[in-house]
Amino acid sequence: MTHRKIIEKNLLDVKAKIAELEKKYQRVGQVELLAVSKTKPAQEVLACVGAGQVDFGENYLQDAMEKIQALAHLNLNWHFIGDLQSNKTKQVAENFNWFHTLHREKIARRLNSQRPKNLEPLNFCIEVNIDEEESKSGLSASQVLNFAANLVDFKNLKLRGLMCIPKEREDFAQQRQVFAQMRELFLQLQAKFPQQKIDTLSMGMSGDLEAAIAEGATIVRIGTDIFGARNY
Ligand SMILES: *Cc1c(COP(=O)(O)O)cnc(C)c1O
Repeated sequence: MTHRKIIEKNLLDVKAKIAELEKKYQRVGQVELLAVSKTKPAQEVLACVGAGQVDFGENYLQDAMEKIQALAHLNLNWHFIGDLQSNKTKQVAENFNWFHTLHREKIARRLNSQRPKNLEPLNFCIEVNIDEEESKSGLSASQVLNFAANLVDFKNLKLRGLMCIPKEREDFAQQRQVFAQMRELFLQLQAKFPQQKIDTLSMGMSGDLEAAIAEGATIVRIGTDIFGARNY
């Protein structure tokens, strides 16, 4: 098989897997796939587009911008899912549809003021450091509701939900337990802001997809299982 065919097949396999898990957990039609194309070239994104994929996740701005520009004619949805320095917010505000990793008010203020008026508000999720790891960014669960209260009035940003990257765990029950905490927090967020359209729980990667779908993920972020391992 050509490289392109392999990626297409991987993408279709991942989509079939998601569909099967949606059925298994009575969640049919509720889980969207975000194809995480970080470090991969535009041709590999194109292979996914050929198989019907529209949403792509990127962590590194320069790497992302090359693809966004090369594929601008295709109307794809770009999701920023990495750590963002405050001096780089403008490019995200101007070129992305989603920002999954918001955890600093300063970044929110800058994205709000830099979002071009002719674009829809920038959708965002609050990043939760659900395992309270030193090495990871995000808010602790106890900070999320107050943080959200400061953001819901920004006119050019739209709060959609929560995102997390838990510790890698092999054990399925343990994976579920962490995602269940996220679901609980998500319900609290929805209850606190009933007038907002809070509908997104961004969680689950190649290694913990099933546990995430079992516990209510609405966007799963898959890189390796579609594009293969990454070379940095
Ligand atoms: C890289 C990355 C992914 C994809 O991870 P895989 O294990 O390759 O599926 C998902 N989410 C975030 C935030 C990432 O940085």
